Amino acid sequence: MAREHNFLLGQGERLASKVPIRKAGGEKGLPYDLRTAKARIAERLARVDAQITQLPDDACPRGEAVAVVTLHPRFLSKSDYPSELLSAVGLRAVGSRSRTIRPEKWGVERHGDDAVTEDIFVAGAKSAFHRWATSVKRWTKDTKGATSLSHIEDLTAFDAKAKLRGIPDGKGVLLEGVVDIVEDGSSTVMYDLKTYLDADAARDHVEPHYRQLNVYAHIWKGLRGRQLDKVAVIATRPTRPLYRALRAGEPAKIQSAMEAWDPVLEVTVDGDVVAEVMESFGRVVDLIEDRKFSPPGLEVLKAPSRPDGKVPFAQDVCLNCDARFGCASYRQLASRSRRAEPTRHCATRAPTSAATPRSKTGATAA
Ligand code: SF4
Repeated sequence: MAREHNFLLGQGERLASKVPIRKAGGEKGLPYDLRTAKARIAERLARVDAQITQLPDDACPRGEAVAVVTLHPRFLSKSDYPSELLSAVGLRAVGSRSRTIRPEKWGVERHGDDAVTEDIFVAGAKSAFHRWATSVKRWTKDTKGATSLSHIEDLTAFDAKAKLRGIPDGKGVLLEGVVDIVEDGSSTVMYDLKTYLDADAARDHVEPHYRQLNVYAHIWKGLRGRQLDKVAVIATRPTRPLYRALRAGEPAKIQSAMEAWDPVLEVTVDGDVVAEVMESFGRVVDLIEDRKFSPPGLEVLKAPSRPDGKVPFAQDVCLNCDARFGCASYRQLASRSRRAEPTRHCATRAPTSAATPRSKTGATAA
């Protein structure tokens, strides 16, 4: 028997309409209403635009500049991230860092004095900053990205001073460094890529990297307020067995050398070493500030670079030094090596060019 009511509903979505869902706790109180937010941002953007306009072309690759957008500490959640605003004004986020600020207004009655927030580094064409600076006062609540204006605490140009960070207890010197940080959600790893290092050789001389990376890890902790899960050097130069196998062209040996090759050298993070490194760094800074630039004597270049090592300083350190061709000690050593070379090799080898002191200086000196 046929059913009495058998409705078939087609294109039901046309009968639906938007249903506002009240969030638990209601809407977040804004620290700045749209009108105030526009005035604040317009004032800051005018300053940023003026500073960016004065930047030389060399400081603006592809005509782009960078500014810092500081989010209000109450609007750090993923859903509050100003991606719509950035895309609307033609900018993109290129990095971020945490810092503690005291916002002008909080938008809630109960709050602390200071709070940790995020600085977002945003890059884009100079003209994009200018367009935003000249148009923001005309924005309405319906303009794309307008909601995020109330979530911004500050907006500044990214000048050279902001890139530098002081050493609080040290000699007041400033450091700038570049490392690779990989965050995969559950862990944060700092890598230092060394294209000139062979992992097997580096394993025996990990000390300088250990000291350098510990300083970087210390700086990271100061900037981000949290520890790294792992710190490592990645030595990308093929190992000697791999080179030999490649030269021999034997697939089985290449395969075995590749399998034995572990380019990642993990570095222990030890806060105690930082003070010592910074003190030795401070000594170098003192020499530079006192304008004492003389290189060490020949005896230092010929001696092993490490207490128990065999490799001379000239080979271990000078060969990686960009200043070696202008260094009196290195040039002296190189010219002595060249003078010694033809007597042994004149029958088989043309004299080494005077313009190429990168001969086996260290080996000869040893
Ligand atoms: S070549 Fe460089 S590392 Fe070597 S002694 Fe001269 S300045 Fe120092």
